Amino acid sequence: MAQWLKRGATAQAKADADRKVRDIVEAALADIEKRGDAAVREMSINFDKWDREDYRLTQAEIDRCVETLTPQERKDIEFAQTQVRGFAQVQRESMKDVEVETLPGVVLGHKNIPLGSAGCYVPGGKYPLLAGAHMSVITAKVAGVKRVVTCAPPFQGQPARAIVAAQALAGADEIYALGGIQAVGAMALGTQSIDPVDILVGPGNAFVAEAKRQLYGRVGIDLFAGPTETLIIADEIGCDPEMAATDILGQVEHGPDSPGVLLTNSEKFARETMAEIERLLQILPTAEHARKAWETFGEVIVADSYEEMVAIADDIASEHVQVMTAEPDYFLDNMTNYGALFLGARTNVSYGDKVIGTNHTLPTKKAARYTGGLWVGKFLKTCTYQRVLTDEASTLVGEYCSRLCALEGFAGHGEQANIRVRRFGGRDVPY
Ligand code: NAD
Repeated sequence: MAQWLKRGATAQAKADADRKVRDIVEAALADIEKRGDAAVREMSINFDKWDREDYRLTQAEIDRCVETLTPQERKDIEFAQTQVRGFAQVQRESMKDVEVETLPGVVLGHKNIPLGSAGCYVPGGKYPLLAGAHMSVITAKVAGVKRVVTCAPPFQGQPARAIVAAQALAGADEIYALGGIQAVGAMALGTQSIDPVDILVGPGNAFVAEAKRQLYGRVGIDLFAGPTETLIIADEIGCDPEMAATDILGQVEHGPDSPGVLLTNSEKFARETMAEIERLLQILPTAEHARKAWETFGEVIVADSYEEMVAIADDIASEHVQVMTAEPDYFLDNMTNYGALFLGARTNVSYGDKVIGTNHTLPTKKAARYTGGLWVGKFLKTCTYQRVLTDEASTLVGEYCSRLCALEGFAGHGEQANIRVRRFGGRDVPY
């Protein structure tokens, strides 16, 4: 039986925090719907100390941000964008349209149709997370979305220059310096100055994720992608305590609400990793967020077997799962609930977050039970169509349809079938 050496916050504490966020978001979205730009502006001033008449950046402002990049910074951003674009293109090519004759004369098909517009949120409250621009803007463009709008909060009172540069290099059509609920609300609901979009995508803090959740239905959303979570599955053969500790802290630094979990089969390894975390917290420049997150949400679990580790990991359904064990592929073959897997000690979540090419917008709060992360497929509607080519086929399907409608008591539906059986088959439906 697995043993917890450290437990995180209780379910009740998490539910209380969620309720508070839910109420704040609900009130803010209602205000944006009612007052439009005036509400957006007030929130931007309150939360980000950022006041403008028009939050859309001009081409000159965008160009200035791109020009501030050093040659190395530009090369690094372009390298990351090339990796993200390359993998997204392969995924796009895998999404084939389908047309098949399922019965003689009966043709069914589906087409993958790009959405008309997308609102890509790039987070940037605590850190200017420019990688978010590659992940959403490029993916939308590869999918074929025509109008790609993107928002990121101002950073330290100014448009975040590296984010804006990345948004521009990624090919965004409209760039706004706007953060949080006001950005997401404005893109989804539309205001006097922003036309509404068809889908909202991209990660963010608890307010951003909750705002997207509440707006779902009015617009599409990609997935519930809130504060980062990480699960490290490790043993003494696959890595060492310093690496496991580094990889936990590398993610919990996102913010005080980011859970980091260690799952291992060795109590000795677990205790040494906990000691390493304490040591590294003394020297990590972002320790303020990381310590709070580790103390509140951090967990350390010692399991008896790989089988038990898979069961626990699937129950946690973490956004990121790093597997650094003797046999990483055992987890690839057997786990079913995760946002993204990072297999073996040579890779890690940071590679995925910043540069390697898989998308870093991933499900949190157990959403990995029902969805993977952002990818081109989220920007495409898979819409079906059908054709019946012969009288015989229409009569055959019509007879089945008529009897099935009668079973449901649907007379009007039944008549749609009956008329075709009479016209194309020259008879009444046999019951
Ligand atoms: P953010 O851009 O998500 O949020 C900043 C905005 O939050 C601000 O512009 C402000 O308007 C708003 N805000 C702050 N305090 C508020 C309050 N009390 N009430 C209402 N609005 C408020 O940036 P962030 O805060 O740095 O968070 C980024 C988040 O994105 C982190 O939690 C990180 O873990 C997460 N993330 C998740 C994924 C994923 O795929 N799940 C990927 C990357 C980052």
